[in-house]
Amino acid sequence: MKLPRYAFFRGRIVPYGQARIGVLTHALNYGTGCFAGLRGYWNEDDHELFVFRPHDHFNRFLESTRLLSMELPDTIEDLVGHLLELVRAEELKTDCYIRPLAFFADETIGVRLHDLTPAISMVAFPFGKYFDNDDGAHVTISSWKRIDDNMIPARGKIAGSYVNSGLARSDAQRAGFDDAITLNKDGHISEGSVANFFMVRKGAIVTPPVTDDILEGITRATLMTLLKEELGLTVVERSIDRTELAVADEAFLAGTGAQVVPITRVDHRPIGGGRPGPLTLELRDLYFDVVRGRKPKYRSWCMPVYAPVARATV
Ligand code: PMP
Repeated sequence: MKLPRYAFFRGRIVPYGQARIGVLTHALNYGTGCFAGLRGYWNEDDHELFVFRPHDHFNRFLESTRLLSMELPDTIEDLVGHLLELVRAEELKTDCYIRPLAFFADETIGVRLHDLTPAISMVAFPFGKYFDNDDGAHVTISSWKRIDDNMIPARGKIAGSYVNSGLARSDAQRAGFDDAITLNKDGHISEGSVANFFMVRKGAIVTPPVTDDILEGITRATLMTLLKEELGLTVVERSIDRTELAVADEAFLAGTGAQVVPITRVDHRPIGGGRPGPLTLELRDLYFDVVRGRKPKYRSWCMPVYAPVARATV
């Protein structure tokens, strides 16, 4: 990956090479940071870059900082302002990814979440697809369990907890799969390693509830709205058994990085004939139109970077 030219680091934009931390930094040693991941989509017709749902991403980001007992003065609007300043400095006019990070910056020894100093950084860089095989993923049910909300808050995007995703994803990929599905402590499907899970079975669209140790995904919420508003379909939020995936008609993963990835096989069993399902494909097309700012009804989710307009709500 080509490194960015700039970083937002501890209050200002600096050359990327100056955004440095010491090896004793608390977050580096103990995983005491949290982050967000946003995408910007270039719209060639409008000659504009749209960042998707930044206010919702920063709202969850600030929720994660609260879960870590970080006391930050920054508001959502402050963070959106830093994002705009950074992306404009990078002069990004292509699909991109933005990575804000809040971390305990103290260079000190001692496991705790109190009496520490939080700091914020942000970088932005060109980005394509996250899944190599995003036209039909072969997933495995991981032997690693999803972190339990009573161990590390699962609804927070907490840096240290991504070791859990890394274990599941690397074992899956080294064994030849595209991704892992993790089960929660009760043996129910929680999510993919970096994306939320949906399935279609007997005409119902089902996704695990927020109480099954999932990250409360913004793509998940987006797709639930689109299914309802555009296709008149209500998503059922309920616990899902692992074997329901094997007999599902369709299944897909949804996340900012992953976008919408059809699951076509689980542990060598084909799902829905081993091809992406029709609803999954329709939803994916709709999603891409929405994030790229091609659906006026959802334009308020898309923040223009170069020609800002007054914010409206859907
Ligand atoms: N679960 C995990 C573990 C993730 O890392 C992500 C990506 N942020 C998601 C789900 C999807 O969340 P979102 O749609 O907000 O990107």
